[in-house]
Amino acid sequence: MAESGTRSASCLCGAVRFAATPKDPEISACHCSMCRKWTAGPFLAVDCGSSVKVENKANLGVYRSSAWAERCFCRQCGSALFYRLIESDLYFVSVEAFDERGGFQLTTQVFIDDKPPYYAFANATTNMTGAEVFAAFMGGQAKG
Ligand SMILES: [Zn+2]
Ligand SMILES: [Zn+2]
Repeated sequence: MAESGTRSASCLCGAVRFAATPKDPEISACHCSMCRKWTAGPFLAVDCGSSVKVENKANLGVYRSSAWAERCFCRQCGSALFYRLIESDLYFVSVEAFDERGGFQLTTQVFIDDKPPYYAFANATTNMTGAEVFAAFMGGQAKG
């Protein structure tokens, strides 16, 4: 592990390795239908600002999921790695991609109104609906 909170991360097979510096050790879970399709569950992500540095982009797949965002994955094993807001170059990295996950805490759940009824986290969190998320961060655009 490097200094200043930078953590190493990888996909399941190791074909994609990258480093990222979380802004804080807080995890947000996104329950939106796109994240659930993409990750096979809620997307547990850490805000890493613009700090992501991929070592070997040859195996990094990029799916443009909306006008403003893309979802990056391993072309070999399919691991979902990070969601990126294109214009602002902000990365939300899967907490599960990090080699070391000590100190992280689940603090927020977003798109709580899209969460299916068959699971629920017991953690005490701040919960936001999709409408609240867009009002707070996106100026009212549709999700993606
Ligand atoms: Zn892989
Ligand atoms: Zn989502």
